[in-house]
This record gives sequence, structure tokens and C-alpha cells, in this order.
Amino acid sequence: MKKLLREKILSIRNQLTKTEVEELSTKIIDNIKSMFYLSKYQVLAFYLPLGNEVDLRPLIQELLDNGKTIVLPKTLDKHTMAFYPIKDLNDYHIGRFKVMEPNSNEKMPKDAIEIMFIPGIAFSHKGYRLGFGVGYYDRYLVDYPNIKVGVCYDFQVVEELPTDLYDIPVDVIITETPRPLYRDED
Ligand code: ADP
Ligand code: MG
Repeated sequence: MKKLLREKILSIRNQLTKTEVEELSTKIIDNIKSMFYLSKYQVLAFYLPLGNEVDLRPLIQELLDNGKTIVLPKTLDKHTMAFYPIKDLNDYHIGRFKVMEPNSNEKMPKDAIEIMFIPGIAFSHKGYRLGFGVGYYDRYLVDYPNIKVGVCYDFQVVEELPTDLYDIPVDVIITETPRPLYRDED
């Protein structure tokens, strides 16, 4: 079930052109900026895009220019990841799963990260996330105390996802369409 959905959504995402990724990502960045008062945060977690994932690099660059600490995920072993700061957008190497990983080894304490932008293959309306099937984020988020923002395109938001006990929902999902804070309804 999860596997089929991954394949279906990834095949749609893989068909986006470079221009489409750029245009949609620009809209998503605008929505992030209108949804959050980013200047109040000092340590923000992002990711670097894999394939056609939403590309938040222009936003990351802007925040770096403003003196923010930007941390990115790096896998430590088959199950664990942690977040490390970057000096600039080229401060990475290619790691596991061809993901661009930060070079630094100065691990950011989990509770120092104030807001985290999380990619996914799909998110449900309730904020549950479908990843690549390894569970890195699920494990990391268990005791992560602050804001979790799911980032994806509209076609990646689905009504329901099969969820397991260990799945941890994000607090809000941002796509190219402005969307209300769904958690308020719960
Ligand atoms: P994804 O979130 O990437 O879509 P899954 O939710 O299917 O993937 O989780 C992948 C694997 O990670 C599962 O086999 C699950 O057992 C394991 N896992 C997820 N969260 C935890 C956790 N908190 N502790 C231990 N194992 C976990
Ligand atoms: Mg999961």
C-alpha cells in the first residue's frame, strides 16, 4: 500500500520539468514567508532537494545572508540521522541515497532547532508523512520538541495515509496553495 503510493507519486513528481519545479518552489517559498515570521528563529532546519523535491535553496540563501544558522540532515547509519550547520549552499557532499549532506560534524542539539522544514513523498491532511520507507524522520522526530513543517506540491497531499504507531505527523503542510493550519480543527 505505502509502496504503491510511493511509486505513483514519485512518477508524477519525476515528470515535472525544471521550470515547473522552480515556479512551484518559488510559490512555496512565498507561502512559507507569509505563514511564518522567520526572523524570530535563529536555528532553522531545511533539506537539500533530491530529484524534483521542492527546492527551498533560494530561501536558505536568504536566511544565511541574514545571519541565521541553517542545519541540514545527515545520515549517521542505516537508522539514524542528525542535523549539521552549513556555511553556504555549496557546503555539502553526496552521501547515502545520493542525498546532498552537510560537511560539518558539529551536531546541532535537537532542542536547539526551532523550526524544521521536512520533505516527503506524500503528506496526509492530518500531517502524516510518507517517506522513502526507511523511517529516518520518524525516529528523529520522536523527541523533537519544536515546529515541524511538511513541504511538498499539492499533488503530494492525500486524504489518508496508512499510519503506524511510530509515524509522527507534521504540524502544518505548505504547498503552492495557501492552506489553513489544519491542526486548529483537531
Ligand atoms: P517512511 O516514514 O520513510 O515512509 P515507514 O514509516 O514505513 O517509512 O518506516 C520505515 C521503518 O522505520 C519501519 O520499518 C519502522 O519499523 C521503522 N521505524 C519508524 N519509526 C521508528 C521508531 N521510532 N523506532 C524504531 N523504528 C522505527
Ligand atoms: Mg513513516
